[in-house]
Amino acid sequence: MRIVAANWKMNLTRSEGLALVDDLLVRNENINSVTIVLGVPFPFLVDVADRIKGLANVHLAAQNCHHEESGAFTGEVSAKMLKSCGAEYVILGHSERRAYFEEDDALILKKMKAAIGQGLKPIYCCGERQEHREAGRYFEVVEKQLNESVLMLQTAYLNGLIIAYEPVWAIGTGLSASPEQAEEMHSFIYGLLQKRFGALVSDIPLLYGGSVKPSNAAELFAKQHIDGGLIGGASLVAEDFMAIVRV
Ligand code: PEP
Repeated sequence: MRIVAANWKMNLTRSEGLALVDDLLVRNENINSVTIVLGVPFPFLVDVADRIKGLANVHLAAQNCHHEESGAFTGEVSAKMLKSCGAEYVILGHSERRAYFEEDDALILKKMKAAIGQGLKPIYCCGERQEHREAGRYFEVVEKQLNESVLMLQTAYLNGLIIAYEPVWAIGTGLSASPEQAEEMHSFIYGLLQKRFGALVSDIPLLYGGSVKPSNAAELFAKQHIDGGLIGGASLVAEDFMAIVRV
């Protein structure tokens, strides 16, 4: 089943966020073949969980979690707390977390284990920066990220894992990877996962993220190893997000 996930980032007030959810849900009729995951800020989790209750195809994600279960970590939020608020997924290792909060793959691995331990499904983000793409080092960079995180997981931890390839140069820039560039990387990632996890690779959805819009989603999603998308900017506009869901 295709997965289309929203990443609202640090946008929208609570009332704006809930109005957006209401607008999305009005447009959600007769969608059975796409799993929609709404990645919302912490303060809206409970409200959004309430709004989507009973809808089989709409699920809730947080955008981060701490790797410890509880304790003296002022201002942090654990996977257990997210679970108790109705989240089923958590976005981890987004390039903005890596760039602005110095998260590295060792830390992201700990967060993934904490999330999976609580029954949350991590959406693990990876991707190269512009200078890596220009230097032709993009496979090397993404392989290193995966080697230090996802590929370290025991197979028992794979249940529910999702990987989002998000080239940093394409996030929020309007400049999407071409379907060929995205597929080239997805098939590379698929190969790495297959080498490590064998047939279990087919249980790990690979999402593409980076300026996905209604106008380019169909071409991207048509590629063999692209199982859906992680959508930032376009997820803030109900019409655009649901047009992407419906492609
Ligand atoms: C993102 O934030 O993960 C993202 C892909 O953003 P955008 O769709 O705006 O590029």
